[in-house]
Amino acid sequence: MKIIFDFDYTLFSTKKLFENLKEEFKGSGVSDKLFSETFQKSKGAFGYNSENQFKLIIEEKPELNLKKLKIAFKKIINRADQFVYPDVLPVLRNLEKENELILLSYGEKKFQKEKIENSKILSYFNKIIITQDINKVSDLKKILKEKEVGLFVEDAPNTLYEAKKVFPNLITVRIKREEGKYIKEPDNKNIDFVIRDLEGLKKIINQKFFF
Ligand SMILES: [Mg+2]
Repeated sequence: MKIIFDFDYTLFSTKKLFENLKEEFKGSGVSDKLFSETFQKSKGAFGYNSENQFKLIIEEKPELNLKKLKIAFKKIINRADQFVYPDVLPVLRNLEKENELILLSYGEKKFQKEKIENSKILSYFNKIIITQDINKVSDLKKILKEKEVGLFVEDAPNTLYEAKKVFPNLITVRIKREEGKYIKEPDNKNIDFVIRDLEGLKKIINQKFFF
């Protein structure tokens, strides 16, 4: 069976990444306030954009060195594997044996690629897709046949809602990490299961009546 995973706040603590970036930038002379402001402003159509943020920081504080900021950024991104949630690896290891695992992540291409590549989970996936379609439906169409049974693990309730509309046999699993971006958004009728971590996914898959 195909199991499709979202990345940010499903497998990866984006919050931890940004906290670490903020801390590292502080060492380069970027205050928390400047970091947060430029972080927000840097966002393009598809989310956070690091290059934009560097430019905005330099605009505010021309005495800072762009090269140094890039090095600070790289240092943290290189440690992306530390921000993968602790419950992820054992479950992926277990699932990859009998399933086709697909990573389907939304966001700005370069930044997503840097995070994903450094997270050291690439080898578990048969396919990795970075999309600019927030509902991911156009990408799911390339992965699944209309009536195919598959599993989709994602923290954005609306993405699951839209996916199920097009793929009625897709089992939609909402993962509610406490720090998640969508934690306050309500469930919807197109969500089949709600879990707190990937341990919860094992239980769903073990209910073999689905498959
Ligand atoms: Mg997500």
